[in-house]
Amino acid sequence: MRIGALALQGDFREHLHVVRALGADGVEVRTADELETVDALIIPGGESTAIGRLATIYGLIEPLRDRIEAGMPVLGTCAGMIFLASGTLRYEQPQLGVLDVVVERNAFGRQVDSFEADLDVTGFADPVHAVFIRAPWIHKVGGDVDVLAAVEDPETGESRPVFVRQGRILATSFHPELTNDTRIHELLMEVD
Ligand code: GLN
Repeated sequence: MRIGALALQGDFREHLHVVRALGADGVEVRTADELETVDALIIPGGESTAIGRLATIYGLIEPLRDRIEAGMPVLGTCAGMIFLASGTLRYEQPQLGVLDVVVERNAFGRQVDSFEADLDVTGFADPVHAVFIRAPWIHKVGGDVDVLAAVEDPETGESRPVFVRQGRILATSFHPELTNDTRIHELLMEVD
């Protein structure tokens, strides 16, 4: 299986390291031609505005949308989740709009902005140790979106999704490529 990581900005190398360790052929994707060659794609964490601007400059917005809408499995982590989403609270920025969620960027506050937590995930036997770095959470989900994990909003007590699935689109607020737990990358490789 050939898995691409969108290599415009962010920690795509860490994702490629994980998928190669799982036996896949991991390749960097920067052009529409390279995108054509992959069976699945990872959109890494980083800075979603930078990823969106560079994807626009590289002419990748439409090719990405087309392939994802045609059913290519995709995993977006953190900034990657923001880029997949249909909207953000308060910010205007390029987004693919293929994942029917509205995200809140830097949702955990700017001071206490990075932390780790054990998350119960639907379908997983054991919790996932999740690393959050200036992470978004999901403010609003559309009807076709399954929430696989959520955290509690410390201010309001409301449940805020941090791992969702919509068909073959997977998105996490946290960084599965920064721990030794490969279950989320395996899910991307097995998604049907
Ligand atoms: N704060 C970044 C953003 O809003 C995301 C951070 C990350 O990907 N770790 O794009």
